[in-house]
Amino acid sequence: MIIVIDGPAGSGKSSTAKEIANRLNIQFLDSGALYRAVTFHWLNSGKSDIRSFIELLPDVKIASKYKNNTFFVSLDGSDITNQLRQHYVAEHVSEIATQPDVRMFVNNYMRNLVVNGTYIADGRDLGTAVFPDAEIKFFMTASIEERARRRFNEIKETDPGVTLKDVEENIRQRDNKDQNRASDPLKKADDAIEIDTTGKTFEEQISEMISIIENKTKLNH
Ligand code: C5P
Repeated sequence: MIIVIDGPAGSGKSSTAKEIANRLNIQFLDSGALYRAVTFHWLNSGKSDIRSFIELLPDVKIASKYKNNTFFVSLDGSDITNQLRQHYVAEHVSEIATQPDVRMFVNNYMRNLVVNGTYIADGRDLGTAVFPDAEIKFFMTASIEERARRRFNEIKETDPGVTLKDVEENIRQRDNKDQNRASDPLKKADDAIEIDTTGKTFEEQISEMISIIENKTKLNH
């Protein structure tokens, strides 16, 4: 079974999905982390030509695991979890995510993974393109100022050179690229339930979403 949460950068999808996974004792899948992992791999590949990088992508072994509130990702056996939130990865990820072959690589991995188990996954196109038959679809939103503030607070210790303005600008550019790309853009699915988190406490939004899940499925916390 799969529950999906889509929405723009910094709308609170990952922290919400993790909390729901913990309370309902189900698995968490962070699709953005998988796009970040491919981007990190590209930035460290030493290749100047994206086509030659993409040709080798099917041979890359990707693995992930959710444990202790962290979504771990490894590529070819190396754990790269700590590198994925870096600003320089965020600056390039939306560009790499426009590549249809990259999307196919990430989508194949996710579809195979969720065959076994119950998952809550977050992303941009999960309810529209990747899991159109998901049992429950949420679409989370919040104002750009609030989203930038949240993301800045998350990274300011590990990335001290980055300002709130840099983060807001990066989010604005990523929203723009994610909404306007040709393949599987960020879009609310017609049957998704919209959750606007501006001005809501974390507990309020979690309770609202858990009661929707409990009403529609047999999952209980
Ligand atoms: O969710 P997160 O901010 O980590 O996602 C990083 C980037 O990965 C997004 O800005 C978007 O470009 C890409 N992405 C995507 N489709 C998804 C999830 C993320 O294109 N399902």
